Amino acid sequence: MKVAVFSTEKYDREFLEAANTATNANHEFIFHEARLEAKTATLAAECSAVCVFVNDDLGAETLKILAEHGTRLVALRSTGFNNVDLETATEVGIKVVRVSVYSPYSVAEFAIGMMMMLNRKLYKAYNRVRDDNFSLNGLLGFDLHSRTVGIVGTGKIGVIVGQILHGFGCHLVGYDPYPNPKFAEIGDARYVDLSELLGSSDIISLHCPLTPENHHLINAKTIAQMKPGVMLINTSRGQLIDTKSAIEGIKSGIIGYFGIDVYEQEENIFFKDLSDTIIQDDTFQLLQSFPNVLITSHQAFFTREAMNDIATTTISNITDFEAGNSLKNEVKLPEKVTVNA
Ligand code: NAD
Repeated sequence: MKVAVFSTEKYDREFLEAANTATNANHEFIFHEARLEAKTATLAAECSAVCVFVNDDLGAETLKILAEHGTRLVALRSTGFNNVDLETATEVGIKVVRVSVYSPYSVAEFAIGMMMMLNRKLYKAYNRVRDDNFSLNGLLGFDLHSRTVGIVGTGKIGVIVGQILHGFGCHLVGYDPYPNPKFAEIGDARYVDLSELLGSSDIISLHCPLTPENHHLINAKTIAQMKPGVMLINTSRGQLIDTKSAIEGIKSGIIGYFGIDVYEQEENIFFKDLSDTIIQDDTFQLLQSFPNVLITSHQAFFTREAMNDIATTTISNITDFEAGNSLKNEVKLPEKVTVNA
């Protein structure tokens, strides 16, 4: 099948081509660096499928243009589909498939890395030593042992984060509207309501999907319920946090450490080399200026294992569609409000 692949980086090309060869799928990929949006949609003309990532825009306008030019399948290289207007996709006869599962260790281990990096100030230590500055002033951290960590969203990733932190000797509290027995089995882990989690945690790590209901789950009101000096980690979706309120929380000292791999307006910034440009997002720039903030560019998924899983499932999704098989990873309308990963 002829597939227009958007938001392509060298690594996407390598993993997709390797999986295409390994499975003898013989799909014809046309790689574009451009992000898919209404103004780039005609690049997919005569391609039966488009293959897209988290920051591609599959709103109504884009989908209508794609359909007019012969696209019948959207193959997401992500679990999440909050960037797809499923109603319009259904209306214009475009099927949507995703990668429903890939290495959850990739994201879980990265979240732990962010905690360690912020707590022990490894980003400062690395730069200091390279600068022949061997002073320890300002690098004081805390033992993770015996600290309470609140995990918001105890699905595949949240459970692994809990298991790793249990190894550190942390106490665990979880909040999830759909409790998971695997979480409750970890050490002393227990489910609490969100306000108890916010008030009792030394570290809060977000591992829930973005849904219309939890947009800005972390806002001025929820930040006010947190323990002063709390560490807040978000490797899920940027829009779970109201960034402006987080900035106020950092300035007031309630948020003592802030680690994010995702950002509300990341589609204008992440995955690009903007080192020669003036970034116009003042909120992002202010956030960057704080010494207790760690920002990474949506890279938590980026391990060999996860990339391999993503490429293999994407190829098999496209092959199933071409062969007229049932689509096991199809995203259907009713799922819209329950899962976005
Ligand atoms: P999952 O579906 O296995 O688990 C998500 C859990 O969140 C479920 O148990 C669900 O019940 C719970 N949940 C739903 N709404 C909630 C709410 N309002 N409050 C608390 N919990 C809620 O998903 P997963 O595979 O563990 O992924 C978790 C999230 O990680 C994804 O939704 C995605 O946003 C993010 N993610 C990020 C990256 C990255 O590279 N940064 C990569 C993959 C996934």
